[in-house]
Amino acid sequence: MTTDLTPPSSPVLTDALEQLAEAVDLLGLGEGVRRTLAQPRREVTVSIPLRRDDGSVEVLTGHRVQHNLTRGPAKGGVRFSADVTLDEVRALAMWMTWKCALVDVPYGGGKGGVRFDPTQYSRAEVERATRRYTSEIAPLIGPDRDIPAPDLGTDEQVMAWMMDTYSTGAGHTELGVVTGKPLALGGSLGRQTATSRGVTHVALAALASRGIAARGSRAAVQGFGKVGRYTARFLDEAGVRVIAVSDQHGAVVDGAGLDVPALEAHVDATGSVVGFACSEPLQAKDDLLTLPVDLLVPAAVEGVIHADNADRVLARVVVEGANGPTTRQADAILADRGVLVVPDILANAGGVVVSYFEWVQANQAFWWSEAEVEERLATRMSLAWDRTTEVAAKHDVSLRSAATGLAVGAVAEAHRLRGLYP
Ligand code: GLU
Repeated sequence: MTTDLTPPSSPVLTDALEQLAEAVDLLGLGEGVRRTLAQPRREVTVSIPLRRDDGSVEVLTGHRVQHNLTRGPAKGGVRFSADVTLDEVRALAMWMTWKCALVDVPYGGGKGGVRFDPTQYSRAEVERATRRYTSEIAPLIGPDRDIPAPDLGTDEQVMAWMMDTYSTGAGHTELGVVTGKPLALGGSLGRQTATSRGVTHVALAALASRGIAARGSRAAVQGFGKVGRYTARFLDEAGVRVIAVSDQHGAVVDGAGLDVPALEAHVDATGSVVGFACSEPLQAKDDLLTLPVDLLVPAAVEGVIHADNADRVLARVVVEGANGPTTRQADAILADRGVLVVPDILANAGGVVVSYFEWVQANQAFWWSEAEVEERLATRMSLAWDRTTEVAAKHDVSLRSAATGLAVGAVAEAHRLRGLYP
């Protein structure tokens, strides 16, 4: 029998491993390939002693997982969240491998996380935690080894601290060690909005594929952070009526369509969508997932569409802005009900695509215009959408199975060509 990892303690990793097994079957690849790809190549767990502002010391736990290095250095975000577990980071790292392969950027997959809620700590404490975490994982990362980026709870300032800490240790400035940096420090134009640009791109393609005109259609967006906020903005600009949005504090709705620019101004002023004047509050924020809309964009965390609410999702198209928002059971229920689900590794790949562009620009010390970034991003998203939908139609499988199959096939082929050492 197999000698895989001990059974996963996280439902997210269980789902990721099942998706892999399904892709291996679909492609007719052997059990050896499945076993190889089920295991992270490298992973480290680190202690992060953190001096609090009051002088006390707390010890946080952090992880960095490199799921695969076959097609290039590991790539993937770092999340700061009280819910981080090693199994969750393993699953997210595996999804990064598939995402990078699907949009053909020359990376493997990685992910990192520190288990703490940064909103409960001062900025100075977050800086110290970031720097200590970076120095603990420094032996693993580097522009040719593993390139972190922002994810849940991290931002471009955190990336600047990571770059600075790594560079101080290296004795010279290494712009290519992280992506999602501020523009003034070697960031790329268009990186901040890249994930949302990509989400919007495939959302419009998905609506069109179902014969739904974007103009006047109705959408709900869960999450108003790095992904949800700009997705709401771009959908609104495309003529979609964004009727509901939520964040961790609550949800607001306006059946006629929210005034998204005014909502953004409200969030800038108050820190939350809650209390936005031209809207009604939703009693329970998760009711947003079951509103009568054409398009639902879960852009927050994993596992929000599950076996207990999937049969109440009324959207005809679900576009996964977050990583892993739909459980495997929910996926099957949505498929039975004819709901089109555009999977995370396709839908939110715009972020890592422009991370790749940022890394290329940093390595060449030559920066592109915003128009060049946007055009190259749109080209890659279109190509990935076309390839995925073609495979799905040809084999009569879901977009997730098609996307995962394409990605696993690309990684397996690269692995075959490199050969198994020794
Ligand atoms: N955290 C983002 C993701 O899950 C971006 C990763 C990156 O740019 O490396 O795709």
